[in-house]
Amino acid sequence: MFFPHNPDLVVVDTEVAANAPFRFLVSGMGDALATWVEARATAEARKSTMAGGQPTMAGLALARLCWDTLIDYGFSARQAAQQHVVTPALEKVVEANTLLSGLGFESGGLAAAHAVHNGLTALPQSHHFMHGEKVNFGTLTQFALEDRPTREYNEFVSFCMSVGLPTTFADLDLGTVSKEELETVAKAATAPGETIHNMPFTVTPAMVVDAMVAADSYSRAYQQESGQQPAASSH
Ligand SMILES: [Zn+2]
Repeated sequence: MFFPHNPDLVVVDTEVAANAPFRFLVSGMGDALATWVEARATAEARKSTMAGGQPTMAGLALARLCWDTLIDYGFSARQAAQQHVVTPALEKVVEANTLLSGLGFESGGLAAAHAVHNGLTALPQSHHFMHGEKVNFGTLTQFALEDRPTREYNEFVSFCMSVGLPTTFADLDLGTVSKEELETVAKAATAPGETIHNMPFTVTPAMVVDAMVAADSYSRAYQQESGQQPAASSH
């Protein structure tokens, strides 16, 4: 839902955040991690931000800070939230999830990750997953579309597994998803007006299907070959 004006003030009581189920915080990280990935693509394509107009260096810097903060402090913040304690890491991640992600997407732009999220809402099997959890698979799909280097890919998948963010179809209860269902997702993700058209290249439904399959397969292979155990998600 979009409002005509920003709020005058946003107050987050981190003690309330720390006492909520930690899945909320982790899901917020999934949403916030997409900020930099999507803002970077929008800027490269010289497309418009969510607020309208060209991305600014300031918006991009906040989006990047959001990413760095989550990679550096997300794991610690998750542990704090799991124990219901407020730590400097939790405070940082709440700022990243709320302020940096908010400003970063509004003044940066959305691209493939959120469009894939929107497409995934067409599948009832994953309805019970939270916004940020589905966005996270969208970010991985965008990585596949962009052909990100293995080093970046590994860093991201490893981080997601450490905090319990979904990286595979199975993680979203889509372990038996069919080609037709993926085509439905891809069609919705590439509908006219979708933010996927902010990518710096033309994205077709077939490319989205291939990228989702590639992202799932990459994450499964990474899990097997790295030996890293995914953190328990709280559901
Ligand atoms: Zn979002």
